Amino acid sequence: PFSFTPPGRNHLFVPGPVNIHERVLRAMHVPGQNHRDPWFAQFFKDCLEETKMIYGTTEATPFIFPGTGTGGWEAALCNTLSPGDTVVCFRYGLFSHLWIDMMQRLGLDVMVVDRPWGEGADEAALEEILKKDTGKKIKAVCVVHNETTTGVTSDIAGCRKAMDAANHPALLLVDGVSSIGALEFKMDDWRVDVAVTGSQKALSLPTGLAFVATSKKALDHMKTAKLKRVYYDFADMLRTNPSGNVPYTPTLSLLYGMRESLKMLREEGGMEAVAARHHRLAEGVRKAVEGWGLQLLCKNPRWRSDSLTVVETPEGIDSNKIVKSAYAKYDLSLGIGLAQINGKVFRIGHLGNMNELMLVGALGGVEMAMIDAGMSIRPGSGVGKAVEYWQKTGAVIKTRE
Ligand code: PLP
Repeated sequence: PFSFTPPGRNHLFVPGPVNIHERVLRAMHVPGQNHRDPWFAQFFKDCLEETKMIYGTTEATPFIFPGTGTGGWEAALCNTLSPGDTVVCFRYGLFSHLWIDMMQRLGLDVMVVDRPWGEGADEAALEEILKKDTGKKIKAVCVVHNETTTGVTSDIAGCRKAMDAANHPALLLVDGVSSIGALEFKMDDWRVDVAVTGSQKALSLPTGLAFVATSKKALDHMKTAKLKRVYYDFADMLRTNPSGNVPYTPTLSLLYGMRESLKMLREEGGMEAVAARHHRLAEGVRKAVEGWGLQLLCKNPRWRSDSLTVVETPEGIDSNKIVKSAYAKYDLSLGIGLAQINGKVFRIGHLGNMNELMLVGALGGVEMAMIDAGMSIRPGSGVGKAVEYWQKTGAVIKTRE
C-alpha cells in the first residue's frame, strides 16, 4: 500500500486515449442535470450539427452513441447489411482484423484482402474485385482509414475512385477512428456512406462516445437491412434526434466536453488548419526517426500517417523494453507493437490536443528509453532534427503577433 504520483505531467503519447485540454476538462465538470428539462433539446440538436465539421459533410446525418469506436463499427454494419451479405475488407493490422472478426461473427460473408502490415488499401485490387463482381453480390467495401497498428493512412478518395471505375453500387463504410478530427476527411466529396470515430482519439475527450455519420444511401439501405440491432439502431435515433431527444440517457458531461473540443478546433481555423498542424507535427517526428537512423514500419511515403508514427527497432532489440523503460523511468506512455509486430515496433501517438513542445519532451524520453534498451543512440540526434524542422516551419500563434 505505497502510492506515489510522480511530480510533473505524465507524457501521454499513445494513439488514443489522448491528452485532454484543461478547457475541455473544465467544460465537463458539471453537476448532474436532467436531460428531460427543456434546455436539452436545442443543446443536443446543436451537438449533432457541430459534429458535421469533423467528417467534412453538410449532407450526412450524424449520430452520437454512448460507446466506443467498436460500437460505431457495429452500428455501421448492422444498420446497412443483412445476414450472408458479401463485403470486402482490407486487412493490414489489428484493427482491420478485429473489424473483420466482427463482420464474420455477425454472419457476413467477408472477402478479406490481406495486405502486408505497413501498407495500405490497394485501389487497383479493389477495382479488379469489384469489376469481377458482375452480379453485384458485394454489398459493402469496408476500409480502415488510419490503421493504428501500423501508422498507415489509406487513400479513401482512391478507394472511391476504384469503386466508380468499376461502376459498383456497394456502400463505402469507413473506420475513421484514428483519422477523423485529425487528418483530412471529406465524407461528401469521397461519398463515404458510413463514417465512424470515437471520442478518445482526435477529439481529445475521455472514452465513451461513438460518432457515426451516414449518407442518404446508407439510410435507404437501412430500410431493408436485416441484421439484428437494438442499442445501435439508427431508427431509434432518427425517431428521437430531430426533436432534440435521445432514445436513452445521454452521456451529458462528455457532450459538454465535445462541444468545447469542437469549439477549439473551430477557433484553430477549422479542419484544414487542424490537419496541417498534424502534418507538421508528424513531419517533425519522422525527421527525428531519420536522425536516429531508424526506419518507419510504413515504407511508402504515400501512406505515412500524420496521427501516429510507428518505429521499427533494429534486430535484437525488444521494443517492449523501450516502452517499459519510458514509463518506468520517465513517466512517458508510448504505444507497444500490437499482435504480430509486438516487440518489433513502438508507436508514438501525436493526434488531438498536441503541440511541438509536448513532442520535444516525448522525443527526448524516447531517446533515453532507447538507450536504456541497449540501442546506440546519440542523445539529441532525433530531437535535434525535429527541433530544426519545427523551428523553420513554425508560425507565430494567432493573437500573439
Ligand atoms: N479502429 C481503429 C483504427 C482503432 O485505432 C481503434 C482503437 O484503437 C478501434 C477501431 C476500436 O475503437 P475502441 O477501442 O474505441 O472501441
